[in-house]
Amino acid sequence: MTSDEQRMAQLLHAARDTLKPGDPVVPPIVPAAAFHLPGDPSAAPFVYGRYANPTWEALEHALGILEDAPVVTFPSGMAAIAAVLFSNAQKGRKVLVPADGYHATRALARQYLAPMGIAVVERPVARFGDGGFEGFGLVLMETPSNPGLDLCDIAAIARDAKAKGAVVVADNTTMTALAQRPLDLGCDLVLSAATKAVNGHSDVLLGYVASRDAARINVLKDWRRLSGAIPSPFDAFLVHRGLETLELRLARATSNAAALAKRFAGHPKLLGLRYPGLPPDPAHALAQRQMQSYGFMLTMTFADGNAAERFISACRLVQASTSFGGVRTSAERRSRWKDAVPDGFVRVSAGIEPEAPLLDAFAEALEQV
Ligand SMILES: *Cc1c(COP(=O)(O)O)cnc(C)c1O
Repeated sequence: MTSDEQRMAQLLHAARDTLKPGDPVVPPIVPAAAFHLPGDPSAAPFVYGRYANPTWEALEHALGILEDAPVVTFPSGMAAIAAVLFSNAQKGRKVLVPADGYHATRALARQYLAPMGIAVVERPVARFGDGGFEGFGLVLMETPSNPGLDLCDIAAIARDAKAKGAVVVADNTTMTALAQRPLDLGCDLVLSAATKAVNGHSDVLLGYVASRDAARINVLKDWRRLSGAIPSPFDAFLVHRGLETLELRLARATSNAAALAKRFAGHPKLLGLRYPGLPPDPAHALAQRQMQSYGFMLTMTFADGNAAERFISACRLVQASTSFGGVRTSAERRSRWKDAVPDGFVRVSAGIEPEAPLLDAFAEALEQV
């Protein structure tokens, strides 16, 4: 039995020990702004809707089992990233972000931290440790990078950056805690856009941060309470429901991604295909060391943008959309967002369709390119 299996089993029964006869077995949605609060307010677990909410707490408890660490939820992945950046960036010390990671992370740092006098440095994920960490107060890595699927060595970066006094954070959205465990590899904080695979149904935005350091968790809770970046109880309920099937969905999506990569690597219509689980992939050796599984995303590079668009519209089992980690296989040409990739570069997020029809649909569509 793996520890992931143990964690998922425990997560599904997380409420068991606290239920009283007649309680609902799922967390109730509590949309209250105000709670009954006579007399001494410190006697009440809930006082006001911006401070704490029972539905967020149920989700945070379940996510905490998954992460093996206390969790603070936010209304989107970017709200989680903003909380981490603004509550940890230090005056006079640099912030390091990926040059080829999620675009909004570096845009947020550039547009709002840099004018406050905090130098923002960007490095490509594949060479994230080059140049060392002297003078950095905050290091935010993302591996595999979105969308290029380059990797960096989480344990080595956490060790070296912490030795220089930096707070070390990993954005684990592309993997989830079932496939990669940055806190176990030495990071101070891990964050995730649960919008993607954790919720998994493309119907809600939510983000969270986890840490095993109680002081860091308190700083994030203060940030949430004071900035007002709180998740909706309705959204927290939906993510809790999505989370309960994460392990099943991730297993299918991961095996689909691996099957697509294996079958279509070297296809004559493709200039390239990347998947960290393929032995010839430049990231494979590191992937084997630091990932529990190789994820649900792959990239395919077509001769040009038109060929890529022809594939996306021809494939019956591909949903053309941005975002990833949903139940439907989805794909998009990333240069339409000005990512630094070739025009024919397509990011594919494998869904949970049965494998054989998915492979057939890809094979057919590739013939039509
Ligand atoms: C989508 C994403 C985010 C942002 O999440 P939102 O919920 O859209 O705000 C952050 N990081 C990565 C790697 C993402 O893919």
